[in-house]
Amino acid sequence: MLRIAIQKSGRLYEDSVQLLKECGIDLRNVKDRLRTEADNFPLEVFFLRDDDIPQYVEDGVADIGIVGENVLFEKNKQAEVVEKLGFGKCRLSVAVPRGQQYEGVTSLQGKRIATSYPFLVNTFLAKNNVQAEIHEISGSVEIAPGIGLADVVADLVSSGSTLFMNGLKEVETILQSQSVLIKNNQLSAAQQQLLDKLLFRIRAVKKAKR
Ligand code: ATP
Ligand code: ZN
Repeated sequence: MLRIAIQKSGRLYEDSVQLLKECGIDLRNVKDRLRTEADNFPLEVFFLRDDDIPQYVEDGVADIGIVGENVLFEKNKQAEVVEKLGFGKCRLSVAVPRGQQYEGVTSLQGKRIATSYPFLVNTFLAKNNVQAEIHEISGSVEIAPGIGLADVVADLVSSGSTLFMNGLKEVETILQSQSVLIKNNQLSAAQQQLLDKLLFRIRAVKKAKR
């Protein structure tokens, strides 16, 4: 039996379940359950917060998982990317109040940056030799400048409309992200065989969509 961790609810949930379905895997009683078994494939599905998925896969509580690269790289866990899945596309960007002058990363020097991605933002700042103060907040990052909590934000963007509605403009891209399938580093031969079977189907589904 292979165990897969997917998001319980949120932006990745529908696409994750849909992908399994397109791979011919039927899930029973998906609603309101923490776990379920597939009818026609030796697969057990765990429904979790996306933030917890890299840890569960590193620990081997789940063998594989579907998560955004943004979360995977932020958590910096030992789990191998096996396939890019092509959904959940977004970018981690720096945005500043629209009226504010911006002349490149040096403009971030000494600023207070609100973000849910302190590790990725720190790495970006260090690479650019910029010192700034990171304020970690878990949600609604885009309102931080408006309420005086921070000068700028680093947040996930897809269309940019949330930034726009909050009077912000995107000025730097830290990371381009999409959902990926990850695996534990120490799968047994039997688990790897099941994963290969699943991967074969995932690739066929992707190919058919092209
Ligand atoms: P959870 O309760 O599982 O922690 P969440 O609130 O952290 O949920 P969602 O908002 O559902 O997460 O986003 C899940 C993932 O969807 C993100 O980590 C990212 O990979 C992807 N995503 C794609 N577009 C966006 C976007 N515009 N804003 C936020 N996340 C996006
Ligand atoms: Zn989350």
